[in-house]
Amino acid sequence: MPRTLRLVLGDQLSDNLSALRDLAPGDRVLMAEVMAEATYVRHHKQKLVLVFAAMRRFADRLSERGVDVRYVRLDDPDNTQDIPGEVLRALEDGGLDRIVATQPGEHRLTRAFESLVLQAPVPLEVRPDDRFICPRPVFEAWARDRRELRMEFFYRDMRRRTGLLMDGDKPVGGRWNYDAENRKRLPRTVRPPDRLRIAPGPVVQDVIRLVEARFSDHFGDTAMFGWATSHAEAQSLLAHFIADILPDFGDWQDSMKGGEPFLWHARISAALNIGLLDPLDICRRAEAEYRVGRAPLNAVEGFVRQILGWREFVRGVYDLKGEDYVRSNALEADRTLPGAFWSGDTEMACVRDVVGVTQRHAYAHHIQRLMVTGNLALLLGVHPDEINAWYMMAYIDAFEWVEAPNTHGMAIYADGGIVGSKPYAASGAYINRMSDYCAGCVYDVARKRGEGACPFNVLYWDFLIRNQRRLEGNPRMALPYRAVAAMAADHDSIRAEGEALRMRLGAAPRT
Ligand code: FAD
Ligand code: SF4
Repeated sequence: MPRTLRLVLGDQLSDNLSALRDLAPGDRVLMAEVMAEATYVRHHKQKLVLVFAAMRRFADRLSERGVDVRYVRLDDPDNTQDIPGEVLRALEDGGLDRIVATQPGEHRLTRAFESLVLQAPVPLEVRPDDRFICPRPVFEAWARDRRELRMEFFYRDMRRRTGLLMDGDKPVGGRWNYDAENRKRLPRTVRPPDRLRIAPGPVVQDVIRLVEARFSDHFGDTAMFGWATSHAEAQSLLAHFIADILPDFGDWQDSMKGGEPFLWHARISAALNIGLLDPLDICRRAEAEYRVGRAPLNAVEGFVRQILGWREFVRGVYDLKGEDYVRSNALEADRTLPGAFWSGDTEMACVRDVVGVTQRHAYAHHIQRLMVTGNLALLLGVHPDEINAWYMMAYIDAFEWVEAPNTHGMAIYADGGIVGSKPYAASGAYINRMSDYCAGCVYDVARKRGEGACPFNVLYWDFLIRNQRRLEGNPRMALPYRAVAAMAADHDSIRAEGEALRMRLGAAPRT
């Protein structure tokens, strides 16, 4: 009877993983904590805790079912500290006839698998990762021959394909997208709901000690760790969200409030990205809430769009565009990342709050990532390598297949319009409209220029003028460029003020 070595990576902790599907007696499952994965970027400490703790708990779950698991800990003295090395070591005992793995999410690991094939004494079978709703060939077929890839059209196809929120061949309620209803500013009188926090159990506490000892120089704190590291905990987070939070998800989806990082967001991306939750199941459970009248359509459609639309779309783009994707720099951005992205030491109240919650929770919600830190990096012209690396190091849910299209594409427009049809550039007025930050800021959001003016204001116009040649032909930028044309006499002084501000904030030319 042939015996198989089955490799499970740290973000593949799913019972239905393709590599585990035909598990037979005599097979061995390999899971390994390795420095190569823990340090290819200096992940937030909470992300390391999440992945190592969830791996240990998944290994225990398999062992309890009688599966033969070879689990290699980080501090095992024989650990080769990379994935190919651990696979080769696991084969040294002999008796295993082949390796079965699931396609990794990141290009970096695909390359590692290619090197493994050359070195391994037995064949390697790599199976598709079918934990996504849209199989790779389906995305490729959808993208083929399209001049532009737009999430909205992909999302509609996915609704038809899955039947989610459909009445026959029509979208429920008659519209595909209820986004226009999901941009409300949060009134001061509305209090965000209390959120379930998962208290760290013994496995998590052990791993926190390990991470504090071995990765003390990584970004972030571990004190507030409250993420799910098992399937059962992920299910409780999801059940809490669906029952208590989802009905208001839509209304306040884009709003921000100082000191309140979670608001009505689901906080499930980490569990979902490492395989503790299933995306289609989440969407169906949200839809059921609408069908029985417990959650309104704008909330449920808005939520389903994030998972069925955005999450599947960015994964498709990452796979389709390959490794060159993150090397593009359409706006020729060439500045360093300001130190405030790490320290939070800035007088800009919005940036201080977002960096602070990121340090404490390895989390910030979408609009904070896009319109505060992302917008600032875009306007300052931070080089893509520096801001991509920051997002990879900052967040609990950061895996390159989802981080890169969001940062490189959506936030800083470095892909020249593959993910978003225009840059999400905004002045302080947007942040003021969607948050309470400006009321407690030393800067004056209403002031356009000069001493005390909100930095986003002059940086916004400086950005538009600086990138006029590249962006003014974009029909979606017609309105701001009409305003730019009307202020022609001020262009030189805005550029000079913008440049002084960029230098003062720490966005200097890269040497
Ligand atoms: P909710 O707001 O409650 O949304 C529900 C779910 O929808 C999320 O859990 C997530 O799985 C999915 N989702 C929502 N928006 C997106 C999106 N734009 N792309 C993909 N999935 C989405 N998400 C990551 O998972 N990993 C990242 O590294 C990451 N980096 C980002 C970087 C930038 C610059 C931006 C603007 C967004 C990034 N996102 C990333 C997307 C989004 O911000 C997070 O998925 C979300 O904040 C996670 O919190 P939540 O679970 O409370 O999400
Ligand atoms: Fe941010 Fe400007 Fe508002 Fe201050 S005034 S919180 S810098 S948007």
